[in-house]
Amino acid sequence: MLRLTIVYDNEAKTGFTGSWGFAALLETEEETLLFDTGWDGGLLLENLKKLEIDPTNIRKLVLSHQHWDHIGGVPEVLRASPGLTVYAPTSFSKNIKAEIAKRASLIEISESQEIIPGVRSTGELGDKIKEQSLILDSGKGLYVLTGCAHPGLSAIMDSALSFGKVKGIIGGLHDSKEFERLEGLELVAAGHCTTHKEEIKKLFQAEYVEIGAGLRLELE
Ligand SMILES: [Zn+2]
Ligand SMILES: [Zn+2]
Repeated sequence: MLRLTIVYDNEAKTGFTGSWGFAALLETEEETLLFDTGWDGGLLLENLKKLEIDPTNIRKLVLSHQHWDHIGGVPEVLRASPGLTVYAPTSFSKNIKAEIAKRASLIEISESQEIIPGVRSTGELGDKIKEQSLILDSGKGLYVLTGCAHPGLSAIMDSALSFGKVKGIIGGLHDSKEFERLEGLELVAAGHCTTHKEEIKKLFQAEYVEIGAGLRLELE
């Protein structure tokens, strides 16, 4: 089982509130993992409650990059999910890393590594804004989960492709115009900071899924 739920996004499904930022919850047979936190931790916890997700079941938190709209909710999540292991890019500032390490087990990510069975970090990619994405293995193919995709689609897709066939991508695609890197995917779910959403939607009509807080996807 690989179930992905968007728990924070600029857009929202009926009954949820949209707010600038991104967070997704990943449930496998063994683990519940949170990817990013949005900026408003209170709103994130409200969304989890509406989805009947108990934050104390979240054992791992992966942070894509050090931008306010992805890590603003970290203090609330650390309070609501005690005993968390947090996976943050090594490039995070010393002070943030020290604060996280006071309240959780901090694992710094530089190179690609497995987080839990079936879930791997690309490692921190990019030059100016360093960011990690996740590579999710459904057993039938790989899915890429991005925060903002600042390192660019090519760098992220190349990293994922070195581990196998990529079936889909979910998350913020920032201002990428490397649309050709989306060709052949079965799922294109662009959200959050994606600048060229309309263009992507037009190009990949059959594969496109609208992201919003409250969206649940069973990845196969
Ligand atoms: Zn962002
Ligand atoms: Zn960003």
